[in-house]
Amino acid sequence: MGRRSFGGRRRPLHFREKKKFSPKEKGFDVCKLVNNAAPAIKTKEYNTLNSFDDFALDSRLKRNVAAKGYKKPTPIQDQAIPHALRGNDIVGAANTGTGKTAAFLLPMLHKVLNDRSQRVLILAPTRELALQIEEEFNAFANDLGIRSVLCIGGTNMLAQIRKLKKHHNFIIGTPGRIKDLFQRRLLHLESFRNVILDEVDRMLDMGFIHDIKYLLAQLPEKRHSLFFSATISREIEELIRTFLQDPLKISVVERETAPNVQQDVIRIRPDQNRVDVIKDLLQKDEFRKVLVFGRTKRGVDRLYKALFQKGFKVDSIHGDKTQSRRQRALRDFRENKIRILVATDVAARGLDIDDVSHVINFDMPNTHDDYIHRIGRTGRGDKMGIALTFVDEK
Ligand code: AMP
Repeated sequence: MGRRSFGGRRRPLHFREKKKFSPKEKGFDVCKLVNNAAPAIKTKEYNTLNSFDDFALDSRLKRNVAAKGYKKPTPIQDQAIPHALRGNDIVGAANTGTGKTAAFLLPMLHKVLNDRSQRVLILAPTRELALQIEEEFNAFANDLGIRSVLCIGGTNMLAQIRKLKKHHNFIIGTPGRIKDLFQRRLLHLESFRNVILDEVDRMLDMGFIHDIKYLLAQLPEKRHSLFFSATISREIEELIRTFLQDPLKISVVERETAPNVQQDVIRIRPDQNRVDVIKDLLQKDEFRKVLVFGRTKRGVDRLYKALFQKGFKVDSIHGDKTQSRRQRALRDFRENKIRILVATDVAARGLDIDDVSHVINFDMPNTHDDYIHRIGRTGRGDKMGIALTFVDEK
């Protein structure tokens, strides 16, 4: 395995156009997939201005924040919460792991506590991310008598419809299901004067642009909008210009890749079989908790079966699995009941799982952004992680 460090200065992630791996790059430019991990340091020190006590948040919310164990605001929370409380539109350039969820949930919950007629629509790209937002919502809304309805595909629509008929202030969901419910007149978007778009770049990657524009157009013209995205492409700028009012822009995207992720390639010789190579790797003790990425649903299924037959504690997630099976796989992975999770990019988006020791790109990702996103599932917080990418040796 050769090692070369990432060279040169790069423009921050959110200013760059999305980059596709060309076939040439896939074969040749593998040095970009190799670096040595630096110690777990932050690239840019940020001095937090506020404590949670400083925010003009309802004391019951502060109590719930403390109960969740949050001691001080993260940079995005520090910068976004005061402005969101003042009613400003915000564009936050922030990726998963920055604490963006609390940055939008807390001011919105405060608003609803002061005015129970307020309703908040939260759009997320994937069911998993919507579930994570709901989980955080439940912690912050504990004992406040504020209800949310989760509207995601792959789950029982009738149960969602029943909940929609009861009083609720928040809807958390994915664009497809929300549009479906709206078109069946089960959801009245004209009463939602607050909207959050989470991981806008992912939503656009997944082809939700028309659904998003459609849904935003149904909301009242005078509304409060908060958009979050790891990257701000031209298409997103356009969306911002069309739908937001003089938004405040906050950026906490600090670096392209976590310095505490060691990246390397595994070269597969023509006489080697990738499945045999991965089996050998996974036998090793240091591969404690491993997320393996495959490109297609069928490829993920095949690899899962091969590993399962070999006796590994493994499960898989992709878009064709039922929601309950996806949730079960994630829960088992989170709780260390399985050691290996094989996933497609879409299914693994926005996942916040502690302690993943290795990410293995069994198949090369389609885009540079996907690569960054995949390897960011390890080396979280102060921990070190390893990302390995399988590359065919010519
Ligand atoms: P997010 O970027 O919103 O997905 O948050 C990433 C992780 O950070 C989640 O596990 C949150 O529970 C956690 N988190 C968010 N804000 C704070 C905070 N102020 N202090 C400690 N942990 C936090």
